[in-house]
Amino acid sequence: MELMTSRTDPLFDREGARNPLSVLKQVYGYPAFRGKQADVVAQVVAGGDAVVLFPTGAGKSLCFQVPALCRDGVGLVVSPLIALMRDQVEALKQLGVRAAALNSSLGRDEFVDLRRSLDRGELDFLYVTPERIVTPAFREMIGNTKIALIAIDEAHCVSQWGHDFRPEYRDLGRLAQEYPGVPRMALTATADPHTREDIIARLGLEDATVFTTSFDRPNIAYEIVERDQPRQQLLSFLSRHEGESGIVYCLSRAKVEETSEWLNTQGIRSLPYHAGMERELRDAHQDAFLKEESLCLVATVAFGMGIDKPNVRYVAHLDLPGSVEAYYQETGRAGRDGLPSEVWMAYGMVDVIQRGRMIDGGNAGDDIKRVERAKLNALLAICETAGCRRQAILAHFGETHPGNCGNCDTCLKPVETWDGTEAAIKALAAVYRTGERFGTGHLIDVLTGNENERTIRFGHVDMPVFGAGRDLPTRTWQSVYRQLLAAGLVRVDHEAFGALKLEPEARAVFRHERQVLFRKDRPTKGKAAKNAGARAANARNALEGADMELFEALRATRMEIAKALSVPPYVVFPDTTLIAFATERPTSRDALLGISGVGQAKLERYGDDFLAVIRSHQR
Ligand code: ADP
Ligand code: ZN
Repeated sequence: MELMTSRTDPLFDREGARNPLSVLKQVYGYPAFRGKQADVVAQVVAGGDAVVLFPTGAGKSLCFQVPALCRDGVGLVVSPLIALMRDQVEALKQLGVRAAALNSSLGRDEFVDLRRSLDRGELDFLYVTPERIVTPAFREMIGNTKIALIAIDEAHCVSQWGHDFRPEYRDLGRLAQEYPGVPRMALTATADPHTREDIIARLGLEDATVFTTSFDRPNIAYEIVERDQPRQQLLSFLSRHEGESGIVYCLSRAKVEETSEWLNTQGIRSLPYHAGMERELRDAHQDAFLKEESLCLVATVAFGMGIDKPNVRYVAHLDLPGSVEAYYQETGRAGRDGLPSEVWMAYGMVDVIQRGRMIDGGNAGDDIKRVERAKLNALLAICETAGCRRQAILAHFGETHPGNCGNCDTCLKPVETWDGTEAAIKALAAVYRTGERFGTGHLIDVLTGNENERTIRFGHVDMPVFGAGRDLPTRTWQSVYRQLLAAGLVRVDHEAFGALKLEPEARAVFRHERQVLFRKDRPTKGKAAKNAGARAANARNALEGADMELFEALRATRMEIAKALSVPPYVVFPDTTLIAFATERPTSRDALLGISGVGQAKLERYGDDFLAVIRSHQR
């Protein structure tokens, strides 16, 4: 196999006018722009500023890459993660585009080379960290070099409201003055209106055109279950994703380590990732995740931003995420390539208590704590809804969705509801009668008439409410309290060690003025979960028989090439392109070019290798 690993000549003539659509076709091999990509590109090619608010997977990279290739000069790309810059630069190089990254890991010789190509105008893209781009040294280095545009990726990092605030982003507002007349773009997948406003204000993009689309991710199937036997539940979920890659999020570093170790004993290849690990090891695990085809990465939320692996097929949460925004971002890392993907969460009351304690125990001011508590309740409401999850998630971001998406657990297997007014009154009475001083565990002991050391010591066994809830099992009472919490009828007082307190709205329930509907919890044990996710299943299921065989052979070739180049396989070709190879079976170079994802440079580099595989698999 002959591989061309570098080429310095520009792929296409940088002199004549460059048309965005022909750049898209020649360089990327894509037949058409998607959604509002074309509008963004037109705006920036014409010299305007843009704020691009598209969900993950919508194709934000092309929004700055194509205009930069159409305009004269080098495109400056601000990106927060050095470890990922390398992959992005590599991906551009594979497209025949001249890209480099400026970061502290650059050797002296490499730096001299980079400066030389910059001075000679032989660079299409320069990736740079936010702290670097604002230094006088960088401005001096740019000198009179022509700048095509400045793109600020992961722009939500500028906002303290966001979940990934980075102080280094704060000074980026200065770029407007330092590079007058250069179009600037901010790009992010944040769906939170508050953060969006903040981005515009802080980056001085008030006059920019804002481009936004729906934040729905239709290819992602949502499922949220009550945590019962978490490891078995996780295994049952993962069994639907054999041979695929995904992420399992845990709250603590210790749980990350334990879970990852345990998964390996279960025959699932897994690596841990958290901020407490040595940097080198962490980066090595991230790299393995990007380069391997079938790896379960168990991580804390420290992992994920900027990961552009397109074929993350699943995301599982073993603990409640920080907020709906965080949940959306974390689950959003699945299915960037648009193929069916599944996200799954197991949660329980302990999570709610634990998170609440983290909020209240922190040193943030009261206002921030109140916002955080409201965020927690919003998330809980999504977990406990009997309606469509997608609708509830999008509603949180102010977007209306008709519901009945057909691709979430509650739509696929509608949950039954029951009139829980009487149960709610009993549950609230238990809170009230015991003086709003106890957590759910004790309250349920009281309701179910459990005579133990505590119920006896506090004299609760003598109360009328003691045993008043014997008609329902403990599990149902747990669910009742979660739903009362989600409905804002009680709150957890973390200063009082997780005691439940009544909210004013509870009064209407006591007076029979408010009816309470509860969702019926599903029986647990693997089975129910399996049914719900059956539809989403394996992304490759679309392929059958001979096509599947060919696809596997193509995957093997892709892996060989990727290894030789030391790049992730998707940098060679994404799965979507390989699937098209396997079903359409192009047998000439021309036919290959007709497949989405095959541009000129990749055709030259490894088109023949793939043609050989396809030809050897003739039907
Ligand atoms: P984002 O940054 O918005 O999350 P990416 O830029 O990573 O999304 O794009 C997601 C995937 O979609 C990538 O594999 C990309 O190559 C592909 N893609 C983007 N735009 C197009 C298009 N117009 N046609 C085909 N594929 C596209
Ligand atoms: Zn739904």
